[in-house]
Amino acid sequence: MAQAAIDRAGLDDLFGVLVRRGYTLVGPTVRDRAIMLEELDSTAELPAGWTDVQEGGTYRLARRDDDALFGHNAGPNSWKSFLFPSELRIWTARQSADGGLEVTEDDTPAPRYAFIGVRSCDLHAIDVQDKVFLDGGYVDQDYRRRREGAFIVAVNCGQAAATCFCVSMDTGPKATSGYDLALTEVLDDGGHSFVVEVGSERGAEVLAELTHREAAAAELRAAERAIENAATGQTRSIDTDGIKDLLYRNREHPRWDDVADRCLTCGNCTMVCPTCFCHTVEDVTDLAGEEAERTRLWDSCFTLDHSYIHGGSVHGSTKARYRQWMTHKLATWIDQFGTSGCVGCGRCIAWCPVAIDITEEAAAIRATDLVAEAERNTHADDR
Ligand code: SF4
Ligand code: SF4
Repeated sequence: MAQAAIDRAGLDDLFGVLVRRGYTLVGPTVRDRAIMLEELDSTAELPAGWTDVQEGGTYRLARRDDDALFGHNAGPNSWKSFLFPSELRIWTARQSADGGLEVTEDDTPAPRYAFIGVRSCDLHAIDVQDKVFLDGGYVDQDYRRRREGAFIVAVNCGQAAATCFCVSMDTGPKATSGYDLALTEVLDDGGHSFVVEVGSERGAEVLAELTHREAAAAELRAAERAIENAATGQTRSIDTDGIKDLLYRNREHPRWDDVADRCLTCGNCTMVCPTCFCHTVEDVTDLAGEEAERTRLWDSCFTLDHSYIHGGSVHGSTKARYRQWMTHKLATWIDQFGTSGCVGCGRCIAWCPVAIDITEEAAAIRATDLVAEAERNTHADDR
């Protein structure tokens, strides 16, 4: 069959098939006046007819004039919450009868998640975290268990939030890899349906169990228009050309002082970022001193403790902490993992309480590059 499509009822079928296959479904739903990713029981919990209005420091829900289920953009939490939980017990230790210590690693089986509605930027973010947790010398076993089990239903965006800039980061808005099934929601006079693309054998098996049909030419055109709309609607961007060297040579740029005057070092940007992976551990013992446990917790590079080494913090000032965060995202991450640490989801812009905008900061540094092009060329000629 050429490209497939499912009707609105087919989405209920998809939920049913995935549940029968043993998956715990996770997808968008309205909670606390935001569209959050939560465990779902049925499609009735999807945010039908809701969208979000986002800007620097602003996130509001608004009603759409249709019943779109995926007519919104990135919300405050990401799939990171399920693949790399904010709190995880790593081991427990108990004093044995002979006074020794028995340490038991926590290998509680992770849920087999089916993620419903993963956007292209977030597929790239998952890929970035795969590099961090799976590809290095140390493999995070809990992440591996969660990641290997996950079934991914991507949804192509049909609109962009004002905070989105995936086009400039080359991470969206169309899902191109990393999914089992990808849907594009189509709402027009012809009804409510989803164009389906298959990205894996598992995806093909699941589609075969659903009532589906060949996508009509008009549906395919509508799907293309929707994705185009999400691309052309983006008003923010980062010029990534040579950005690594730009940030390296502008370590002393006055813009870092400017942003430090505004930054509260609250760490929100790191908590909402789908690629940030910093964590710490906390050890707790019972009062009798017979049992202890170690818990892994999300951490932020905006805390003083994060860079504390023998007597002081490396990043003692707000300026140093913001500079290290942004330079890590856009520059040192490339040296470390071979990819940018930013996928252009815009969450850090919407959820920064003082509306600091990574696209604006990067542009300001580029506009007044301390080592201007002409000067660099002169140095090159001198060599
Ligand atoms: S940039 Fe914004 S969100 Fe990030 S630490 Fe500073 S004030 Fe908080
Ligand atoms: S740095 Fe900001 S825009 Fe980039 S991936 Fe993280 S939260 Fe999204």
